[in-house]
Amino acid sequence: MSYRSSWMNDDLDIFRETFRRYLSTTLSPWAQKWRADKMIDKEAWLALGEMGALCPDMPEEYGGLGGTFAHVAAVIEDLEYELPEMALPVAVHNAIVAQYVLHFGSHEQKQRWIPGLASGQLIGAIAMTEPGGGSDLRALRTRATREGNAYALNGSKTFITNGQIADLVIVAAKTDLEQGTKGISLLMVEADGSDGFRRGKNLDKIGMHASDTSELFFDNAFVPAENLLGGQEGQGFYQMMELLPKERLAIAVSAVASMERMVQITTDYAKERNAFGKPILEFQNTAFVLAERKSETLIARVFLDWCIERAIRGELDQVAASIAKYWTTDKQCETADECLQLHGGYGYMDEYEIGRRYVDARIQRIYGGTNEIMKLLIARSL
Ligand SMILES: Cc1cc2nc3c(=O)[nH]c(=O)nc-3n(C[C@H](O)[C@H](O)[C@H](O)COP(=O)(O)OP(=O)(O)OC[C@H]3O[C@@H](n4cnc5c(N)ncnc54)[C@H](O)[C@@H]3O)c2cc1C
Repeated sequence: MSYRSSWMNDDLDIFRETFRRYLSTTLSPWAQKWRADKMIDKEAWLALGEMGALCPDMPEEYGGLGGTFAHVAAVIEDLEYELPEMALPVAVHNAIVAQYVLHFGSHEQKQRWIPGLASGQLIGAIAMTEPGGGSDLRALRTRATREGNAYALNGSKTFITNGQIADLVIVAAKTDLEQGTKGISLLMVEADGSDGFRRGKNLDKIGMHASDTSELFFDNAFVPAENLLGGQEGQGFYQMMELLPKERLAIAVSAVASMERMVQITTDYAKERNAFGKPILEFQNTAFVLAERKSETLIARVFLDWCIERAIRGELDQVAASIAKYWTTDKQCETADECLQLHGGYGYMDEYEIGRRYVDARIQRIYGGTNEIMKLLIARSL
């Protein structure tokens, strides 16, 4: 039985074949070093830019490939298969940061930032979460006060992916304390030109070791008024609500790709590993566990592809994206647990891919809106 995603085409096949070969031969050998450094080398970002894997759906006039969300999904999938260390950092960059600039930026803002994001000269991050809370975006406390032609930004953010290396950070802040959601704006902080902006230490995590995660501090940080995304105050909450479905779909894309990979490597392992004189795949329990996981993975894939098609047409809604994010990441964690079990003690060793995928999977149910928040959003549609 073979299945091909409906959104795939010949051009994407050619792009992906070259891209995957490059990842497996040239970049993957660095993964272990990045995990130890808790950071990905900037050269790897530039290499992805050269390959056309950064901002592939951005218009060519801004340095992108002029593709669609199919390209964004393909890049996340291929990273998840070949170089999972870069899947999250690049998803944040491609499926979140660049999307905000393209959808809400003025022509001048797009010209200023998208070419750098596409080449890898600029690495993007988005800072919504604060130490006081991440689920309740309305309650954020970072404040931007207009002073002449600039904003003074005060507050702090935490758990920010790419926080150590980002050149361009989208910061959600209150520009009007009197207003609730209408008082939130998105400011583009350029790390180089912003006095008062400071990065905290690279946080220690239980997984996702190559992806840096940081606190960010703003102490009267200087942000020129022209860096207000879209040029109008009070739009931030609505901008986030519009693009969060795409962010959640990107998480589902990596969840399903990881499930596919885990089923594949575990099947290979079960064919090679012997116990009681035969390959462990010949035990009915092993075969049934893998049969169940293969079934769920294919079911997840078909629903994911339906969502990707909608995203390509610009029709992905909040509820479908929430279902995709919650269900696929739950299934990813279950698959990781079952597949690790079939590896026995080796599964618990850091040098085995399945062990790393097991710990890396856990965060997927938390960021991008926790799975409880996803259920809340789905429940509102009942
Ligand atoms: C590795 C990593 C990378 C991240 N990257 C980024 C990033 O790049 N940018 C960014 O802005 N943030 C990022 N985050 C933050 C992430 O999005 C938040 O951790 C997440 O949104 C949850 O917020 P919180 O941690 O404050 O938990 P809380 O909001 O305090 O939630 C705690 C618990 O309460 C539950 N809960 C809260 N409200 C409700 C409710 N109404 N009903 C039911 N249950 C509820 C939650 O589901 C959760 O189980 C990252 C986090 C990690 C760990």
